Amino acid sequence: MSDIYLFDVDGTLTVAKQKMDPSFQKAFLKWMDGKEVYIVSGGAFERILNQVGTDVLDKTSGVFACMGNAFLQKTDLINKTGFNEWQLVYKNKFIYPKNLNRRLNSIVAKSDFPVKTGRHYEERIGMINFSIVGRNADQDQRKQYEEWDAEKQERKEIVATLREKFNTLDFVIGGAVSIDIFNKGNDKSQIIKRYFSEAIEHNKMHFVGDRIPFPGNDHTLAVALREHPNGAAYEVDTWEDTAKLLKSSPFA
Ligand SMILES: [Mg+2]
Repeated sequence: MSDIYLFDVDGTLTVAKQKMDPSFQKAFLKWMDGKEVYIVSGGAFERILNQVGTDVLDKTSGVFACMGNAFLQKTDLINKTGFNEWQLVYKNKFIYPKNLNRRLNSIVAKSDFPVKTGRHYEERIGMINFSIVGRNADQDQRKQYEEWDAEKQERKEIVATLREKFNTLDFVIGGAVSIDIFNKGNDKSQIIKRYFSEAIEHNKMHFVGDRIPFPGNDHTLAVALREHPNGAAYEVDTWEDTAKLLKSSPFA
């Protein structure tokens, strides 16, 4: 029985939305030697690539982007730019219910948070990423929202309201300022059914994430793994926690 390691990105390998710390990146690359490692992020593939870098991605066995709604693997081909080609193994479609956009706009309008920068939702493969502060917010404005949300618990409240209103969809708190929206079941746990159903019977699977408590976007995958005798999930708060974790069993 061998080990398979899964990592979230934002809050687990990096500060949310930022690039990996260079010294941790170096240590992580070394740690990856000879190991089977996958990325499981809410972010789109291009952003993950930008955050963790080509070297780390090339060393993974695959990348589950957009909450596992897209799965990419490296092929052996080298393209003109010298980078390895990545191949889309599968992707899901997000089915839009009526009135979702209108409801999201009204939630933005009703929020008392003072900074709203526009483009409040972004369509990704199989999901939508929604935020009150907006996608054009700078680092300070995002930080401001993060603090506001920690105090007011606004995202938790929004998620509860939306869950009640749209019963074919699921809503989870992801990243530092946003909410991920997707068709029920198309959360991070789908990667077990879609890709690891055989592998989990013959390997130990370990998942590291920062949003494991409900309704965080790592919750369902952590639960699915913990319910299986060969699965385990580890909660961290920061990449520094992850760096420490990698020095101990069953990682080291
Ligand atoms: Mg995270």
